[in-house]
Amino acid sequence: MSLYPADPNTGILFRRTDIPGQNATIPARFDHVSDTRLCTTLSNEAGVQIATVEHLMAALAGCEIDNVIIEVNGMEVPIMDGSAEPFVFLIECAGTVHQNAARRVLRVKKPVFILEGGAEASLTPGSADQPALTIDLNIDFNNAAIGQQNLSLTISSSSFKSEICRARTFGFMEDVEALRQSGLAKGGSLENAVVISGGNILNEDGLRYKDEFVRHKILDCIGDLYLAGNPLVGTFSGHRSGHDLHNKLLRKLFADPTAWEIISMDDYTEVPMQTWQAETSRAIA
Ligand SMILES: [Zn+2]
Repeated sequence: MSLYPADPNTGILFRRTDIPGQNATIPARFDHVSDTRLCTTLSNEAGVQIATVEHLMAALAGCEIDNVIIEVNGMEVPIMDGSAEPFVFLIECAGTVHQNAARRVLRVKKPVFILEGGAEASLTPGSADQPALTIDLNIDFNNAAIGQQNLSLTISSSSFKSEICRARTFGFMEDVEALRQSGLAKGGSLENAVVISGGNILNEDGLRYKDEFVRHKILDCIGDLYLAGNPLVGTFSGHRSGHDLHNKLLRKLFADPTAWEIISMDDYTEVPMQTWQAETSRAIA
């Protein structure tokens, strides 16, 4: 995978370098999400897919990258260590540039809710003077190693990097075995996930955060919500929510044109330092 600089208003585009011709480009947008069962997968009109985009999308959100072209020579974004930290590290090594275009955010104007089974997710308007996304997430696993975890965090570049980006994906040993038998998760190992068996964590070094599981779920949520096409300004609340509910929530938000607006960061006169810092678009240097 390689990330390339892109002009203002390009947005985030995936390009499959193993697919010839015009059909290789897949926009990183919620309305291109085609599968949410194990990860978030995007497809274009020709049916060309790119899977597991959520951790990279979270890194781009956390680094405030608005415009980038992502070339991948296969159908899946590299899993790295199962977190967003390697992507953040590489983006910081490359450097980023401010572009000569105002940064635009998607402001939630009306509450939107999704309830499904025992899971729920909502987006509500944030406070008027704070151009930020706040995430309040609750997970509840019938497993002694995870249990119930709750975390509420206002997402900024600094809070993402210190509180969220190192949290790894996690899975259960029993599921890994079932996935392998159906030909999936071939590269799944203790190198790229927290693996749980019974009530125990199998990784020798244990967890990176005491509540790494809910932090990873927030990471997923940040990545999935960045598929809105602009940074979100509002409050997300989730209870046992996942990729599927995140996408349904965005589709429901966009289905009501009175529930949202896209505005320039210039419209926020006083930008608090702890929230989105960039007032102009940013690209990879
Ligand atoms: Zn994840």
